Amino acid sequence: MKRILNFIDGQFRPPASGRYLPNVEPATGRVIAEIADGGPEDVDAAVAAASRAFEGWRRTPAEERSRLLLRVADLIEANFDELARLESEDSGKPIALARRMDVPRAILNFRFFATAILHAETSAHMTDDRALNYTLRQPLGVAGLISPWNLPLYLLTWKIAPAIAAGNTSVAKPSELTPMTADRLAALIAEAGIPPGVVNVVHGPGASAGRALTAHPKVPLISFTGGTKTGADVMTHAGPLFKKVSLELGGKNPNVVFADADLEQAVPTSIQSSFSNQGEICLCGSRLFVERPIYDEFLDRFLAATRRLRIGDPLDPATEVGALVSDAHRSKVEGYVALAQEEGGRILTGGKRPANLPERVRGGWFLEPTVIAGLDCSKRCLQEEIFGPVVTITPFDSPEEAIAYANSTRYGLSASVWTRDLQKAHRVAAALESGTVWVNTWLLRDLRVPFGGMKESGVGREGGFDSLAFFTEAKNVCVKL
Ligand code: NAD
Repeated sequence: MKRILNFIDGQFRPPASGRYLPNVEPATGRVIAEIADGGPEDVDAAVAAASRAFEGWRRTPAEERSRLLLRVADLIEANFDELARLESEDSGKPIALARRMDVPRAILNFRFFATAILHAETSAHMTDDRALNYTLRQPLGVAGLISPWNLPLYLLTWKIAPAIAAGNTSVAKPSELTPMTADRLAALIAEAGIPPGVVNVVHGPGASAGRALTAHPKVPLISFTGGTKTGADVMTHAGPLFKKVSLELGGKNPNVVFADADLEQAVPTSIQSSFSNQGEICLCGSRLFVERPIYDEFLDRFLAATRRLRIGDPLDPATEVGALVSDAHRSKVEGYVALAQEEGGRILTGGKRPANLPERVRGGWFLEPTVIAGLDCSKRCLQEEIFGPVVTITPFDSPEEAIAYANSTRYGLSASVWTRDLQKAHRVAAALESGTVWVNTWLLRDLRVPFGGMKESGVGREGGFDSLAFFTEAKNVCVKL
């Protein structure tokens, strides 16, 4: 059986504990690998390696860092098929989605930040004729990078690429549920010629390996993507050490469809935003609000399209809905389906484990795409992040009501608005409490824009120069003239 080891100082190493955790394929429930059960000792070794590598790496010219990052991107591209397959096996996501989204984005993350550093500028402020101020942007040292299981390679590379492009070294802690592509990435990073210690990967549970990283005194910066509760724990441990922290957390995103929307686009895109990756994308729109005059028509079309989605073996290129990441997670999602009914909601479609799955995946953690009606915004199913193939649908009667509904949770990550009325679109977008608002689209990402959440969906912004600002310290130098 394959053993996934830590990657420290350019070498794959067994965990200090000598223990391994099972790595399970969600589509089958079978153990496909063993993963290093890393903890504080491994994090210490990785931080020491990263600290040793820092001086050399920060002094490596930007042009050379850029060349090495571009080489990583090329190697990801050269191993495209293998990475897509590993991602699908490891997380339960359809391989078609891994090919369309996860792996291309990992390549782009490296290319984007490799080239961004070639164009970086800094600012100067003249104080009349008395002084010249200029801003130095310097790397901080060892960046702690913690990522979740839903977009494993996509989000890990979204952190590693800007961190090291900016001249930091790094210790990454991927999700213990999906270690496979991080393991391959480590090998590709070595093959690309990135010096030992610049990127280290420690596997293991969040409570041991993750916590050790957030609480490590020699890690001045933490970039974390994951659940809101975990984000609070990260803050608790990083706060007293005054670390720079970026938190990309959970969402409960509204998808607002006005009566003048183009349903030819709104329906299929809402299917994507509801059920892509089994609803396990932080940006999924899990609360549909539809203006009353078109509520019935929208619902009919939406339900028909939901029922047409192909659930099946994630490795089958035709599959549109794969398996949920774990048995425990499926139980949690099913708990919300039961709760919806207790709260007075109606399950319009889905809610069950699918029958007639292909032989290979009968033991997997599948759940039918589920649509729930009849619940108002105060209900837990419209307040809490379910993170599965479950959406609620609610009618509304005015833009003000839609805005109030949309803003009624403690989350504020993203939102979609569907309308042909440009003024209304701008007005509603400005009023929504969301870090990102999409108008007549969903998940259209430009890597230059600020990305992050409001309220309990996060702290800070990443993306483009915001990422490079986060991964550097601004220092003002004031020279008297
Ligand atoms: P999680 O919070 O359970 O775990 C995320 C990572 O943190 C994992 O690597 C985990 O091992 C680690 N971790 C767990 N406990 C820790 C601790 N005490 N200290 C340090 N690290 C710890 O999240 P998950 O279940 O892997 O991912 C799903 C969540 O991530 C959802 O809430 C989703 O909305 C969110 N998410 C947010 C974004 C975004 O950009 N805002 C993107 C993707 C996912």
